[in-house]
Amino acid sequence: MTMSKTLIRGAKVLGGEPQDVLIDGETIEAVGAGLSADGARIVDAAGQILLPGLVDLHTHLREPGREDSETVLTGTRAAASGGYTSVFAMANTFPVADTAGVVEQVWRLGKEHGYCDVQPIGAVTVGLEGQKLAELGAMHDSAAGVTVFSDDGKCVHDAVIMRRALEYVKAFGGVVAQHAQEPRLTEGAQMNEGVVSAELGLGGWPAVAEESIIARDVLLAEHVGSRVHICHLSTAGSVEIVRWAKSRGIDVTAEVTPHHLLLTDELVRSYDPVYKVNPPLRTERDVMALREALADGTIDIVATDHAPHPHEDKDCEWAAAAMGMVGLETALSVVQETMVETGLLDWAGVADRMSFAPARIGRAEGHGRPVSAGEPANLTLVDPAYRGAVDPVGFASRSRNTPYEGRELPGRVTHTFLRGRATLMDGKLA
Ligand SMILES: [Zn+2]
Repeated sequence: MTMSKTLIRGAKVLGGEPQDVLIDGETIEAVGAGLSADGARIVDAAGQILLPGLVDLHTHLREPGREDSETVLTGTRAAASGGYTSVFAMANTFPVADTAGVVEQVWRLGKEHGYCDVQPIGAVTVGLEGQKLAELGAMHDSAAGVTVFSDDGKCVHDAVIMRRALEYVKAFGGVVAQHAQEPRLTEGAQMNEGVVSAELGLGGWPAVAEESIIARDVLLAEHVGSRVHICHLSTAGSVEIVRWAKSRGIDVTAEVTPHHLLLTDELVRSYDPVYKVNPPLRTERDVMALREALADGTIDIVATDHAPHPHEDKDCEWAAAAMGMVGLETALSVVQETMVETGLLDWAGVADRMSFAPARIGRAEGHGRPVSAGEPANLTLVDPAYRGAVDPVGFASRSRNTPYEGRELPGRVTHTFLRGRATLMDGKLA
């Protein structure tokens, strides 16, 4: 039996006082104390936090081309499990999402499966090769309505191409999301360049390889009066550059991943490739600078960089292993541990960094909206008192490459609603 009305009873909306939220069809009908159930399905949310549905600006869904690691279906199921109602799918698929045809294919698959909205990201350059600008306008004008463009996985390293891309997206209010990695400075790089890389004898990935590109790109964005977004900031120096750029009024936004808020390069001493990621895990000092920057708004959002890999691409020696970690199903717990339980952010702040702000940057219509009457019912319920060890066997993602296996993390997403429909109910996918 499908009921069109759901009453969420006694949830702390954005961490505030307990309230009832009545959903009718696709919309929030009322928010208040002691609302009448009136035949609605009741969700008892005592002690739980109600957030706007989470929005991930940086997800790798791997379809088309690498369906052995993830598909739009399994990736969006993982997203719903993690409390997400909208994900932006990166363009480094096979074929690359550099034409209207490929972005429309991904967009259609998202619509068919319905676990969360899928907004395709278009490549900046043809084939992610960094040589020739892709058809950004055609992707924007397509049914997928692309507004975010990125060569993520690769850096748009040519300054002239980057300048042209920034000029092009300015015309329709789009944004270029840069994977900041100077290619020559990171040839053969295997981990963060520092004390640990020297001791282990692994090729170092210097902070300046990230920072020099960010410095260049905020200056380019200022020069052409356009908007630039920096993917996965990982160093204290990157934070300083973004802080300086914002103080100058440059239109720059930035993201940090959950793993860069928690893990350090000390973990590489295990030689376990589950800790191999791009950009690499940095030092404790970097982690603390990233947390502080997320708290004070220098870093605008948390984005997962969910990067599924099949077992065989990770279960090998360090140098041969693929880079990346899955993240959709653990992101909120890591943010609770690193930001909420440390007192750096309250739940309203989490709603901003994981829903309002990413929806605004990516122009995700109907997402990142206030929890109030008349708004689309895209909602996430979290039980913050839950404590449990991460067990990847229970993941909805097709891949298991999590750095948190067996680690106890706080909080658990119990319910996710996409336009009023439960995609996750009592911790189980609908
Ligand atoms: Zn990247």
